[in-house]
Amino acid sequence: MAAPKTLLVLENFINGKFVPCSSYIDSYDPSTGDVYCRVPDSGKEEVEIAVTAARDAFLSWSSKSLQERSQIMNKLADLIEHDLEAFAQAESKDQGKTITFARTVDIPRAAYNFRFFASSILHHTTECTQMDYMDCMHYTVRTPVGIAGLISPWNLPLHLLTWKIAPAIASGNTVIAKPSEMTSVTAWMMCKLLGRAGIPPGVVNIVFGTGPKAGEAIVSHPEVPLISFTGSTLTAQHIKERSAPHWKKLSLELGGKNPAIIFEDANLDQCIPTTVRSSFANQGEICLCTSRIFVQRSIYNEFLKRFVEETRKWKVGSPSDPTVSMGAMISKEHLEKVKNYVKKARAEGARILCGEGVDSLALPTGNQNGYFMLPTVIAEVKDESCCMQEEIFGPLTCVVLFDTEEEVIKRANGVKYGLAATIWSSNVGRVHRVAKRLQAGLVWTNCWLVRELNLPFGGMKASGIGREGAKASYEFFTEVKTITIKH
Ligand code: NAD
Repeated sequence: MAAPKTLLVLENFINGKFVPCSSYIDSYDPSTGDVYCRVPDSGKEEVEIAVTAARDAFLSWSSKSLQERSQIMNKLADLIEHDLEAFAQAESKDQGKTITFARTVDIPRAAYNFRFFASSILHHTTECTQMDYMDCMHYTVRTPVGIAGLISPWNLPLHLLTWKIAPAIASGNTVIAKPSEMTSVTAWMMCKLLGRAGIPPGVVNIVFGTGPKAGEAIVSHPEVPLISFTGSTLTAQHIKERSAPHWKKLSLELGGKNPAIIFEDANLDQCIPTTVRSSFANQGEICLCTSRIFVQRSIYNEFLKRFVEETRKWKVGSPSDPTVSMGAMISKEHLEKVKNYVKKARAEGARILCGEGVDSLALPTGNQNGYFMLPTVIAEVKDESCCMQEEIFGPLTCVVLFDTEEEVIKRANGVKYGLAATIWSSNVGRVHRVAKRLQAGLVWTNCWLVRELNLPFGGMKASGIGREGAKASYEFFTEVKTITIKH
């Protein structure tokens, strides 16, 4: 009999030290279905200790010069980049994403988040105005808020956690961060680098565990005045209620049901591969992924044929195989949930054009128990269908046809979400008209996921409250004060 494999055991990182927890939860490798790691099941007690550490570290950290904080953050970026391959391997194993995606997107961006905020923090200005008739001068100052509670999801684990930690500490706050209990490994690996980068004990504390225990303890703690959360709309609603009695500052980055609108003058050679990518990148587990594709009638048949052909080229398999386009989905439950949407669509009379239930999925021997699904395209779905209304967050996209600009704007806006949208057209006037009227925090034209970190990121309606980005994050992670001087 083969000896049992040793499990990786993570520890909380509080006050600059790794500390064990009294209980642990299992974490699975999505590509095999095996438990491979144990994650601390922290709760109120661990969060209380982290709050004490963050409180004690605040005065010294917030008093450091911007240049000093910036240098430390650049050093941390260097260290992550130095270990990029180890981080990428770990992210791919923990989340199920392809090694290629982890190597080219997640980890480079995690390092860049520190580099970006290390630079942007040096360039903000405050306001000043004079009131001569009163002999007064007014100006604003910005100060860090205090202890920031940062909670992130499982789809882009280190990328999204560092997108919060970096602006929080650059602005002079100390933090208590909690990654998803399903993808905690890279955050734990990063803790090993914090001291080497020069981040003092207590400035970054990472408490691992579930939402209802560890997450809830952070959100409900009266000494944590600010919560930055990325995750589902349902959890955000709960966080909002829990935070309300404490008047916490909230930034909520939530789900989407993102449309792509493809007009008859679109360049299909660019549009089709990009829309396949926008639908299925990272197994469709990106909040910005396209899940409703509106195609104008005159090009509908051609688009559909070519889109399905292109989708079928995407290979699904072991995340460590560099030729694979899609790896495993995060969990067995999530896989079942996404497959259920396909069943519902079929029951409603929609056509499943490729993928789940249509094509066969051949997996390597070691991956037979992993959580895999083929990229799936559905057509002839009604706008009222749950597949067109609810966030599915998996490799499933719906294609429907439209006739007029006015009609498609109304239908694209006809969901509760408002995160991102994509327009494909070569008519500049139309692009401006449509982009302005779409209810989405981000609109890409003739491209997808081209990010400019200086500009605001976030959603409207049920997709969130607040924006992130250089200036937006700085404003969120600081308090502003107006000072008036009479002379
Ligand atoms: P989730 O809401 O289930 O969990 C997100 C985080 O919140 C996890 O760390 C979880 O442990 C924690 N949590 C859960 N319950 C909690 C509670 N009661 N109190 C405090 N914390 C709690 O979301 P998920 O399934 O991990 O992630 C997928 C969702 O995230 C999707 O809806 C996706 O669209 C969204 N998302 C949004 C963005 C964006 O920038 N808008 C980016 C990525 C993902």
